[in-house]
Amino acid sequence: MKKMPKLRVSGKAIAYKNGVMKVPDHLIIPFIIGDGVGPDIWKASQPVFDVAVAQAYQGRRKVFWKEIFAGEKAFKKIGKWLPQETLEAIRDFHLTIKGPLTTPVGGGIRSINVQLRQALELYACIRPVKYLKGVPSPLKKPQDVDMIIFRENMEDVYAGIEWQRGSREAAKLRSFLKKTLGVEIAQDSGIGLKPISESNTKRLVRRAIQYAVDHHRQSVTIVHKGNIMKFTEGAFCEWGYQLAREEFSDQTITEQELNEKFSGRCPSDKVIIKDRIADAMFQQVLLRPSEYQVIATPNLNGDYLSDAVAAEVGGLGMAPGANIGDHCAVFEATHGTAPKYAGKDKVNPGSLILSGAMMFDYLGWTSAGELIRKGMQKTILDKIVTYDLARQMKGAKEVSCSGFGKAVTQNICKLKK
Ligand code: NAP
Repeated sequence: MKKMPKLRVSGKAIAYKNGVMKVPDHLIIPFIIGDGVGPDIWKASQPVFDVAVAQAYQGRRKVFWKEIFAGEKAFKKIGKWLPQETLEAIRDFHLTIKGPLTTPVGGGIRSINVQLRQALELYACIRPVKYLKGVPSPLKKPQDVDMIIFRENMEDVYAGIEWQRGSREAAKLRSFLKKTLGVEIAQDSGIGLKPISESNTKRLVRRAIQYAVDHHRQSVTIVHKGNIMKFTEGAFCEWGYQLAREEFSDQTITEQELNEKFSGRCPSDKVIIKDRIADAMFQQVLLRPSEYQVIATPNLNGDYLSDAVAAEVGGLGMAPGANIGDHCAVFEATHGTAPKYAGKDKVNPGSLILSGAMMFDYLGWTSAGELIRKGMQKTILDKIVTYDLARQMKGAKEVSCSGFGKAVTQNICKLKK
């Protein structure tokens, strides 16, 4: 097997001292270009990042980009979809930003994204969903949408513990369940497990509440299906409330306390902890989005909910995301490889551009993040957009993927002057 080329680098990596992240001014950021439309959106986004950093810090800070490989490019180079060297580089540099990756077709190959999250223990999938003025939306008041979803990333049905119908393992499990627990499962069933643990739930909810406290958000809503799945989804909800009581008692109140002790008016220094059943929540985010700020939820609910809410603010082409662990973070365009548009310089690079803004916030380079968002906002208000938004907007000027990136870059330059 061929060896991966060694990384040659200028700049420095993030370091951790006593658990605290230290970000050098000349920072190495590894990137994965991705499959399908990945190269299109990366080419459009990277100049936006560079200009934002240059404008914000006037040369004091700089990013040194280093390509690392996963997906089709890695498979072509060394015959592996997710090489060990790539995982090690992300661990060593403590972060990466990536385009979408193909899920290889064929028996037994798991999604590369799921493998990445599991191998690097990136337990929180974080998806901010905020309306930018001028973006077409099916809502009457899309400006009310300003949420951030914390989705558990390691457990639930996405843990990938499942057996095929007719397999020896499925038969063994069926027989065990029947003999020892008296549970009958139809013989022609595939079987999957849905583990949800106290420890993983609590570290996810801790992150969500800490975010709400740090960013002065009014509420954290635990979204679950505990009315039906009591010992998994229901337990997620219980452990979430427990964590709030144990670790954030001075900063949080429950919805019940809000009504009983504070007559429905939340003191400015408190975060309300509430919960909603997942199906009802889908209605809530359509009808009363202003009542929800931070959401903490198990994996599958979060998967559905984050795409549904993204549709309220421009769709998948505008939805940024990150997968974060204690010492490692992967920022990514949340959509897939959109193969029919690959290489056509057509799709919206907004998802990756906004993921970059999130990444700079995470690094503490918030002025760069802010410039990127302002540059995007100005471009959309000028009605310069890619096909996905243009088809829903009157009087829009449709531009290519790279054309959109260029317009954002130019607007960032103007903003700073
Ligand atoms: P997809 O690639 O997200 O594309 C579905 C549709 O979403 C596109 O046809 C397009 O809609 C719209 N879309 C996606 N990206 C867009 C963008 N940047 N700008 C504008 N519109 C965009 O989903 P898929 O076709 O189900 O998945 C294809 C492959 O991607 C699969 O191999 C899947 O496993 C993988 N995937 C990877 C990730 C990841 O790496 N994080 C995530 C999801 C899926 P219109 O046709 O209406 O224009």
